[in-house]
Amino acid sequence: MSTHTDPRYAGALRLDGKRALITGATKGIGADIARAFAGAGAGLVLSGRDTGELSAAREALREEFGVEVHTAAVDLATPDGPSELARQGAAAFGGLDILVNNAGVSHPQPAVDTDPVLFDATIAVNLRAPALLASAVGAAMVAAGTGGSIITVASAAALAPLPDHYAYCASKAGLVMATKVLARELGPHGIRANSVCPTVVLTEMGQRVWGEEAKAAPMIARIPLGRFAVPHEVSDTVVWLASDAASMINGVDIPIDGGYTMG
Ligand code: NAP
Repeated sequence: MSTHTDPRYAGALRLDGKRALITGATKGIGADIARAFAGAGAGLVLSGRDTGELSAAREALREEFGVEVHTAAVDLATPDGPSELARQGAAAFGGLDILVNNAGVSHPQPAVDTDPVLFDATIAVNLRAPALLASAVGAAMVAAGTGGSIITVASAAALAPLPDHYAYCASKAGLVMATKVLARELGPHGIRANSVCPTVVLTEMGQRVWGEEAKAAPMIARIPLGRFAVPHEVSDTVVWLASDAASMINGVDIPIDGGYTMG
């Protein structure tokens, strides 16, 4: 039996030498993406709000994978947070090759009973922050002239309406479209911009919103694979989008939902 390996596939999903900024990297999906990127050889800037959690995540990844890891504690709900994070992210390595816009919040409430403060809070973190961060990081990538990959963790809620997720669905749908505008504008500079749209993942957020059996069961019944996703199923797609194996993928929104949104 031949043991020949096609060189195209030998390192297809490696991210050695790439410098990635990951938001919401302290918990849930973002923490798993950070671990996957470190395992693939990327240098990292981890972002969140809790400095203790950031330091712990940095030390764990350095210890396990031996990659260079920096942290940036920034509140992305503030208008200046995204530009400040772009500045800190670029300063850590002298530039960035990959941005993973993952941080997000969910404040479920019925559309007919919308609290304007929670509505604004959702839009600020889920739409304004990732859009402004991608704008600032994208501008630096254009100036550097070395290309890049911007990956947005949107949601299946961007593609199919969910009751009690008025602001959340609107924020994620807006983010998918904003990412496509980036794909058009930045594509000529060799910078790709794509979204992933997971169904429920039982992270801290997923557990809070979907943890009750009575709420979960009807949602699971609408997913042909008959279960929620697990974090590594999101991370694997994000690593692929960041890698050279996805070098012609630009402007797409990929459902990671077991067939939930296929129609
Ligand atoms: P999570 O467990 O609640 O973690 C959220 C992360 O975002 C944390 O690291 C948190 O850091 C950070 N974050 C929240 N608000 C922030 C702020 N104002 N400034 C800076 N960082 C902030 O959430 P998750 O379930 O992993 O979700 C990650 C992403 O996937 C979100 O965009 C979410 O909408 C999306 N998503 C989730 C699901 C799901 O079912 N879980 C499904 C589809 C899409 P701090 O704690 O330090 O603030």
